[in-house]
Parts: sequence; structure tokens; C-alpha cells
Amino acid sequence: MTVFIDTSGTPDIAFGDLFTATGSDSGLGEVNVPTDSTVFQVTYIETAGAPATADRINQLVNTDFGVPIVISALNDGTDPITGIDLTTVAGETYVDSSSGTSIVRVVYDSSQCLGSGFFAFDVNGKQISFPGPVILYHELSHALRAATGTTQTNDEIPAETDENVLRSQEGLCLRDVNNHGGGCGAGDTCGGTVNGCFIVSATTGSAESEEVQRLRALREMVAGATRLGATLIDRIYDEYYQFSPAIAGRLGQDALARQAVLLVAVRPLLAWYTLAGILAFDGEGYGATQAMRDLERVCPRYLGRTSVAGVLAGLRAGQPLPPRMPPLLQSFAEDVRKAATLPHAGWAILDPLARAWGAAGGRRDIRAEVAQWLADAPLDKLAAPADAMLDGELSALAGLFDFHPESRRVLGARLTRAWPQAISALARHGFI
Ligand SMILES: [Zn+2]
Repeated sequence: MTVFIDTSGTPDIAFGDLFTATGSDSGLGEVNVPTDSTVFQVTYIETAGAPATADRINQLVNTDFGVPIVISALNDGTDPITGIDLTTVAGETYVDSSSGTSIVRVVYDSSQCLGSGFFAFDVNGKQISFPGPVILYHELSHALRAATGTTQTNDEIPAETDENVLRSQEGLCLRDVNNHGGGCGAGDTCGGTVNGCFIVSATTGSAESEEVQRLRALREMVAGATRLGATLIDRIYDEYYQFSPAIAGRLGQDALARQAVLLVAVRPLLAWYTLAGILAFDGEGYGATQAMRDLERVCPRYLGRTSVAGVLAGLRAGQPLPPRMPPLLQSFAEDVRKAATLPHAGWAILDPLARAWGAAGGRRDIRAEVAQWLADAPLDKLAAPADAMLDGELSALAGLFDFHPESRRVLGARLTRAWPQAISALARHGFI
């Protein structure tokens, strides 16, 4: 009984950041505390081969220090106990004895300075990004020494040294351990990413599984093709981050649910994205035929294609799940419903899932389904590309619809309304 997450603030983000620090190890979970509704208790059974930072989380979660460690991820900027504005410090760790017994409190700003980001410095004095999982891992380094009575005179040096272990695992820039400076604003990421594919990692059991790597490669291909695609992916991840850590956390405790989500959601989605990527980037041919067969294979008839499609369509429409679903899947319904209301995540995840299961039922043309889905991409919610980039962006975007040109005009109709200043360029590239 050592590490807890405060249920006020943003516990899902705290869990997600902790999950990242374990290298997306599905052995991490959380359970209610029957006697105390203000916290969740973190549980962790470390999977063999998990990275070095996972060993630290394992040590914290599974050692009895005689004092609990409570993590609060707050997005309103101020710690109610110390009154410190977290946007000025990113995070803080201290021993709170106000209740009569000691608690090591780790409090950090999950809003990333209300969306502007936090930065620290590398050894060349360059501003580098300081994302949530790194802030939390840094504070947990202080917490370990606070819980064991080994806090050092300058405790920042060991905290920043530990922080760099997570940074290097995630491909982020390394911090100057002798420079505790930083502030609100953008910083270089050195090409690293900490927004993991939580659910895929949880169901496949590893942040480096074949499925996670395929998804990452597809994401890089789309982001590399157009600035619009890269921005869209950022928005999708921002939304995905709002509901996926909670799902991944529950999956961590239940092998049957992991298997169910892998079969019903992860594999069909991956097959769908792969098919869409091949059609959009390579056009029709042997690869596309193979990808269509794969989609048929991962949406097998024995799982009941039309009923899966029906449940998904119902969730998208806000209807309750059928009563005989297992309770654990029922417990996902709220998260799925939340996802359905998010414009980018709804399009990127629920929409293709319903289409994949519906199309695999055999009554619809899969190629046309993929084209309609691409044409529904919420690009019209993004700002139009700057003039200097407009032609290049629209030309690359238009090329993605060569396998089904009618759909290009469906998207074109929405872009025309959203970007009236770009009408002539849209016409030049076949969107009108
Ligand atoms: Zn510190």
C-alpha cells in the first residue's frame, strides 16, 4: 500500500503518465480503496523486460515505506495545500503532516501550463520540452528519497539524473542536471514522443509490439505527407489521451478483457488503417487486395460481424449497451461514449471500427467505405494552410483520393465552406 492517485484533479492523466513511465506495461493497474474515495491505489506487476524506469515504479508501488505517496495531477494551476501556483514550478513534492500522519505528496500541473507547455534546459542552454510523464517521474524521484528519509541537500541533481533515464527511453532531449531552470513555453522534443498508443500497448502487452510499431510507422507516413495530416494526428492524440489511459488501466487488470479489446477493436482498426494507407498512398493493386483480405480475416464471422457493428453504431449514437455484455465491457461503455463525442477521436477510432465490422459483413464495398471515411476526415475544423503552402498541401491531399476521385469532391464541399479564401486552389486540385 504505497502509491495512490488523488481522485480530484485529473486522475486519468496521472495514471497515463505513470503508465508511460513503466514503458506502457500492462501490469500497471489501479483499484478503488473501499475506505477512502479520495484516492485510487496503484497496483503493479512488472512484466519481464520492462525498461529501467519500470523498475523504479515497481519499487515505489511494491515497497512499504510506512508512509503513503499520493499523486495529484491538477489542471487548475494551484496546489490547495501549499497554495503554490503549479504553472510556475510544474511540480512539487513534500511531506504533508496536516492530517496528523505523514503523507508524501507529489503534485504536478497536468495542464502543461494551461496548454503552452513546459520547458527545461539542455547542456547547451537550449529550451527542451518537459512533458507530463517526465515531470511526474522527476517528482517521484524526490518522493522516493522523501519516503526513505534520504533527501539530499541539492535533491534536484538526483531527480534530474533520474528524469534523464526516462527522457532517453522516450527519445527526448536530455536535461542539464546542473540547471534547474525552466518555465512555460515550447521546447525541443528532439523527435521523441511520450504520447503512447496506450490501448494498443495494453492489449498487445508491450509498447514495442509489432502492432504498436506498425501504428507508429503509419502515423509517421501520414504526418510526413502533409502538414494538415500532422496537425490532424496531433488533435487525435490530444483527444485519445483524454480517455485511453483509463481504459488501458482497467485492461491491465483483466486478461480476458485485453483479449476481447484486441480482437474487437485493436486488430480490426490496424487492418483498416493499413488498408486505407495502401489505397491512399499506393493505390489499388496486389497490396490493397491483400489488405482487404486481412481486414476480412481480423473481423471474423464467429465474433458476429453484424452484432459488433450494431453495438458500435449504438454507442456512437449514445444508446446503452445490450444487457448481456460482460460487466467489464459495460464499464468501457462510458469511455467509449466519451470518445464518440470527441470530433477527432470519434472519426479516427469509432467510425472506422463500425465501418470495418460493417463492411467485413460482405454487403458493402470496402474500397468505397475507406474512401468515404477519408472524405469525412475533420480537416475542415483545421485552419487553411498558409498561402505559400496551400498548393503543395492540396496537391498532396488530392493525391490520396486518386483511388476514388468522387470522394475528393465530398471532402471538397466541406473545405469550400470552411476555407472560402482557398476556393480557386481547391478547384485547381480537383476538390470542386
Ligand atoms: Zn525537482
